[in-house]
Amino acid sequence: MREGSKARRGAEETSVPQSHGAAKPASSAAITVGEGAKRSRGTRSARGAGGCNPDFPIDEVLRRLRAKAADWNAPVVTLMAEQNRGPFRVLIGCLLSLRTKDETTAGAVKRLFALGETPQELLQVPTRKIEQAIYPVGFYRTKAKRIREICRILVDRYGGHVPQSLDQLLELPGVGRKTANLVLAKGFDLPGICVDTHVHRITNRWGYVRTRNPHQTEFVLRSCLPQRYWKEINDLLVAFGQTICKPVSPLCSRCPVAEFCARRGVHRHR
Ligand code: SF4
Repeated sequence: MREGSKARRGAEETSVPQSHGAAKPASSAAITVGEGAKRSRGTRSARGAGGCNPDFPIDEVLRRLRAKAADWNAPVVTLMAEQNRGPFRVLIGCLLSLRTKDETTAGAVKRLFALGETPQELLQVPTRKIEQAIYPVGFYRTKAKRIREICRILVDRYGGHVPQSLDQLLELPGVGRKTANLVLAKGFDLPGICVDTHVHRITNRWGYVRTRNPHQTEFVLRSCLPQRYWKEINDLLVAFGQTICKPVSPLCSRCPVAEFCARRGVHRHR
């Protein structure tokens, strides 16, 4: 996931672009892994956020995308199948997906959870073995350490369970708003909008929102997107963004919602 998006700083992370996109070389001692903006919580980044176009036909647009999604064969579908089996798996899967292709992440999730299904079980697995299981995800060494840190916190503070509050999730190392919202929405079926670079890019292209970054987009969508769509919008737009509304040169000639799209910021398309 990307299109120039950079993960902004979290409690202890430096800039690392986020998931659903091409992997970069998995080595950098200076880089820690995580998502950004975890502490801003709607203040600085969201300030000055643009608005939402109330006339945009979001119901019809999402209905059309939903009807076509099965045809796209998007990489994210493989990941969803591995990830969507409880909050712990969503949490770890999202952490692994940072700066890693979805196809690669799906295999890593499968291999990792073959070693242990719970935080208690994974804590018994040596870091080296976790590294081997999740390789070749981006920053696999750092992520292996993160996984153990998170497991330790979950066991010590939460009885081995994933917390259900956004603030508690944001306190976990390497967890930013995207991951925290995904855990709430998919892990607990609670209201949460997971805004990644695809959701940010596409809703801006449509002219549905006018924002500068995914963080602003999350807050604008919270105010205007009907809550019944919060859970599904990420899956739909990631799949759509991976296959049709690509970051560079989108396939507008094959787009089922072209008639509603303002193509804002689109200079080249096919
Ligand atoms: S018309 Fe083009 S830019 Fe607009 S949503 Fe479709 S593919 Fe994306």
